[in-house]
Amino acid sequence: MTETTALLHDWRFSIDGENIAWAKFDREGESANSLGRRPIEELNAIIERVEAEVRAKSVRGLVIMSGKERGYIVGADIREFDSFETENQVVDSLRPVNALLDRIEKLSVPVVAAIHGVCVGGGLELILACHYRIATRDDSTRVGFPEVKLGIFPGFNGTARSIRQVGPMAAMQAMLTGGMIRASAARALGFIDQLVSSPGELHWAARKAVLQNRKSKTASAAKLLLTKWPLRGILANKMRQETAKKVRADHYPAPFRLIDLFEKEGGDLDAMKAAETTAFAPLMVSDTARNLRRVFRLTELLKGQAPKGLKWRPSRVHVIGAGTMGADIAGVCVAAGMEVTLQDISAEQLEKGIKAQGKLFAKKFKTKPTRDAAKARLIADPEGKGVARADLVIEAIVERLDIKQKLFADLETKIKPDAVLATNTSSLKLEDIASPLRDPGRLIGLHFFSPVPQMPLVEVVRGATTRDEEVKKGAAFVTAIGKFPLITKDVPGFLVNKVLTPYMFAAMTRLEAGEDKEKIDEAARSFGMPMGPIELADNVGLDICAHVAKILGQSPEGSRLERLVESGRLGKKTGEGFYTWKDGKPVKSDKTFPKEELERLGRELVEPMIAEAQRSLDEGVVETADLVDAGMIFGTGFAPFRGGPLHYKNNLANADGASSSLAAAE
Ligand code: NAD
Repeated sequence: MTETTALLHDWRFSIDGENIAWAKFDREGESANSLGRRPIEELNAIIERVEAEVRAKSVRGLVIMSGKERGYIVGADIREFDSFETENQVVDSLRPVNALLDRIEKLSVPVVAAIHGVCVGGGLELILACHYRIATRDDSTRVGFPEVKLGIFPGFNGTARSIRQVGPMAAMQAMLTGGMIRASAARALGFIDQLVSSPGELHWAARKAVLQNRKSKTASAAKLLLTKWPLRGILANKMRQETAKKVRADHYPAPFRLIDLFEKEGGDLDAMKAAETTAFAPLMVSDTARNLRRVFRLTELLKGQAPKGLKWRPSRVHVIGAGTMGADIAGVCVAAGMEVTLQDISAEQLEKGIKAQGKLFAKKFKTKPTRDAAKARLIADPEGKGVARADLVIEAIVERLDIKQKLFADLETKIKPDAVLATNTSSLKLEDIASPLRDPGRLIGLHFFSPVPQMPLVEVVRGATTRDEEVKKGAAFVTAIGKFPLITKDVPGFLVNKVLTPYMFAAMTRLEAGEDKEKIDEAARSFGMPMGPIELADNVGLDICAHVAKILGQSPEGSRLERLVESGRLGKKTGEGFYTWKDGKPVKSDKTFPKEELERLGRELVEPMIAEAQRSLDEGVVETADLVDAGMIFGTGFAPFRGGPLHYKNNLANADGASSSLAAAE
């Protein structure tokens, strides 16, 4: 094998005895391969070399692989995106990459992509420019276009190439949803041409594909019929309607601009390639995209709350209380591969709680053996025998101090020396719960949000007496179940409810003052909240809202909230609350409201939340402003495209500052 790695940092290049060129992407100093400037420049050098070898007839094909043990290409390098300030800079940076992919596509010898692990975004665009794609059947192998989640769409000509390869239905679906597609599904759709069972087989399968000059089949004529007029227009309208059900065009323009691009240029894929760049550039430099990149960085920040290199690893969990929270907590632990014993004083509740997890397992595990294995890992344990073997014990029983104290005092005598003791309390002080313990430093809070499987955040609460080491273990556990940990101080409401509650109560006060509930909810949604505060209160349960209000010193006395609770109208769960509920949905009037009024009201509604977010930062509930923002985005769905409450506040202040300095200059 002739090694020609001399000047390469991020790729390894060689030509073997059969004249097959091998390019292995192994980005220096990084655990994942992202297509940053240098790797692209180096790939350019590799392609120049291959072109020369092809001219000299000394290379018969090229294989593009990953040099990492896990993962193919995670996409373009997001860290470089913030360097673009103007649309022209974006266009200038895209041109050479797209020219490079065109040259790969035009090579006269076969170019084969051999994929193991995640291959998304720019990675998928690169392999779509290859002539043939082989992937492992491994569960980690996925393709996808996650760009919409960052406020953009594919910009390395992936829009046109994916349509040509798999047809407009599958391609647009992948680009509009941003979902990850498993290898077998990708093969069925046409993104992948061939599957092999293991990474070990990739090399030989790629060699064979080169020697046999295999070529991928592009989408059938029947599929491509949908790119012709008038079908293309009908399909575009349908996609617009479906997308509008999920996101608003004024908040998330990228999917709508992608549909426009397809509608206008989808009949001529070469024209679409050129138009893609011009439609892409304004999105890339928009505030929405900047803020969504910020959200991406915040996820990394939260994951970073878990310590690295911790010896303690949770594999057995014991959950006490199989009610609303406990059963689902047990379910997500099992879904993450852990073995869980679940305890409850009510046999009926225990059975119901375990049965309810079938839905989560069916979603998570696609084959019967994996589903059966998950069911076998969730063990009913009415006597609490699992306590002695557990790495972590989570309590999710009734919210009563005396009962929790008694439970923990008993648990302390039974658990392993390094096991973590955790409570899911939402309103009691950890210090109080831990007071009867011989070692109160052991107790942490793990505050989950409902519904547990859907909510990505878990607050890891550090009580006044909690030991640091236990907090670290708690954060490691949260990461191990695939959620984001947020370490908070033990103050009433922790971070998320403390910041959310004033917003909800201010909205209820407006309601009492005569504001229309539909208008309040619509205004919050027009600001970007996933649900309005009044509908949210009904969803959470008005009894719980009243309870939280008391803890946070917001007395609901004499209020409409209190009257509703007293009359047993508790919201969604009883069918009546602020709204009447039918089939799980609030009955709303058809009233519409002027856009400007909704926008003004939306901004006013979030003011109490922003003020409380600032106060929480000042009080050190979490350590940084970014963590406050991360907590509110992942704990409540606070408008992600606004970057979080404190980021939004700073942007407002900057905009005000800019306009007042303009005024001063005039
Ligand atoms: P729940 O009433 O639905 O369930 C509590 C379960 O605990 C019941 O099944 C009950 O039979 C069982 N139980 C009671 N005492 C027990 C004991 N001594 N030993 C074993 N089992 C016992 O309550 P929930 O809503 O799941 O709340 C549980 C805890 O989680 C509370 O501390 C609550 O504050 C907290 N929490 C609730 C939410 C929420 O949205 N519901 C959110 C975050 C935290």
